[in-house]
Amino acid sequence: MRKQEDFSEWYNEMVELANLTDKRYPIKGMNIWTPYGWKIMRFIDTYIREECDATGHDEVCFPLLIPETEFKKEKDHIKGFDAEVYWVTHAGLNELDVRLLLRPTSETAMYPIFALWVRSHTDLPLKTYQLVNTFRYETKQTRAFIRVREIHFFESHTCHVDEADAQLQVEEDFVILENIMEHLCLPYFLLKRTEWDKFPGAYYTVGVDTLLPDGRSLQLGSIHHYRENFSRPFGITYEDEKGEHKFAHQTTFGMSERLVGAVVAVHGDDKGLVLPPDISPFQVVIIPILAKGNVEKVSEECQKLRQELTAAGLRVKLDDSDERPGSKFHNWEIRGVPLRLEMGMRDIDGGKVAYARRDSGAKGSMDRADAVDQVRSLLNVISHDMREKAKAASMDAIQDLGSLDSIPEKVVRFGWCGEEECGRKFEERTGLKMLGSPYQKEEYSGKCIVCGKAVEKPTYAARSM
Ligand code: ZN
Repeated sequence: MRKQEDFSEWYNEMVELANLTDKRYPIKGMNIWTPYGWKIMRFIDTYIREECDATGHDEVCFPLLIPETEFKKEKDHIKGFDAEVYWVTHAGLNELDVRLLLRPTSETAMYPIFALWVRSHTDLPLKTYQLVNTFRYETKQTRAFIRVREIHFFESHTCHVDEADAQLQVEEDFVILENIMEHLCLPYFLLKRTEWDKFPGAYYTVGVDTLLPDGRSLQLGSIHHYRENFSRPFGITYEDEKGEHKFAHQTTFGMSERLVGAVVAVHGDDKGLVLPPDISPFQVVIIPILAKGNVEKVSEECQKLRQELTAAGLRVKLDDSDERPGSKFHNWEIRGVPLRLEMGMRDIDGGKVAYARRDSGAKGSMDRADAVDQVRSLLNVISHDMREKAKAASMDAIQDLGSLDSIPEKVVRFGWCGEEECGRKFEERTGLKMLGSPYQKEEYSGKCIVCGKAVEKPTYAARSM
């Protein structure tokens, strides 16, 4: 199904063929999570919860509706979101005095309450997160998981005594992110956004970007340091040890269902999805190879194998439907199950189980007696290989750019002096979006591609999804 030739069409076809989503809901950009798609999202949410809980964040759940009066407290914030907001204007038959909006993100829902929760330095740091749906009226073409109007969303919100402590939170967020991305086998870049592209109201924004097979970049999440930009308008203050009142410094970290879209886009191939074992609803599918006279024996052995693997904590599907093995292979390939096991009479007599890896297509056989350990280690190898393959493709996709004469259809790396004027000129002339400079140090020496001034860090740009 031509992933390389027409990525966009391939993507749309795959999410439907694999039954990850149902787009027939009568509101554009609001899709149904099907059981298979939702299972994948839930595994991702589970890893997010594990990481947040382990780092002392508490899960909360704030109301979906925000009063207009709170939303308007931070000027840049409202300017940034105004055009994307859904409004509630009536309650029953009555027009509301104060309009309510569906959260596009939760700063203005949470911070009036944080002002009540935070009193003393002993209340800090306050570390919270929630997994909720947010709503943004997207005007660009919608796309399942990648650009939708109701968004399954993770957001952490923290308050700290000062800028330095909030900075430590940003660093901790990078570790949380890395651990989650390990499960998803996704490569990513941490790029500090330009001043004109940072989150509305943020002191700075670090974007988490991954690269798509068509050379575009996809933002998967972002981490923001707010300094006192929100605590001042919302009055989030605390009393320090000397009895002085100070404003809290804040951070947020957000990611969304785009993670599912990225998994589809980065790992999938012409046969369908390729799911990382850690988030695949089924890690193993067992296909019985039946022939006349051995149906009962083979079925029984396959059941036994399924029970053993399940007892060992693996997620296993035994496909004992009436379809032919060939069409079963095909169906589970589309759905991206990492490992297929096959057992027929010949395998059983020889004490073997045949296998096929979804990621590389490699086939082989393992000893039946040793199947649990073999399957476990194969799944580890698959995860490892998927990470390496995706990383290599991501590095390959980047091209160094020395001049503005010819602009490749790729992600580009180049020198930029940091001046807004040069940055804007670059974006105008190339039609690319500046993603920013690496948050972590990256060896580089070059010249600003616009004004020629010497620079020591690179900047990245791409067509963005
Ligand atoms: Zn310049």
